[in-house]
Amino acid sequence: MKRKCLYCYEAVDGAQDFHEKCSMEFFGTPTPPVIEYSLDQMDELAKNVVLVALLLESNCLADKEQLF
Ligand SMILES: [Zn+2]
Repeated sequence: MKRKCLYCYEAVDGAQDFHEKCSMEFFGTPTPPVIEYSLDQMDELAKNVVLVALLLESNCLADKEQLF
């Protein structure tokens, strides 16, 4: 059974989920990053994502000249 690229949905060779080209476009790297988090880490990661989102939001409201 042929795999399909998760980016362009064309058939892809081997056990890859993305064409090298598509991975490059999607992730900025020729191979997609391997994401293996435990559920605990996932929970922690989710919290971090929320924190980062909040930080980014407050950064947007703050004076950008001060931050960069
Ligand atoms: Zn592709």
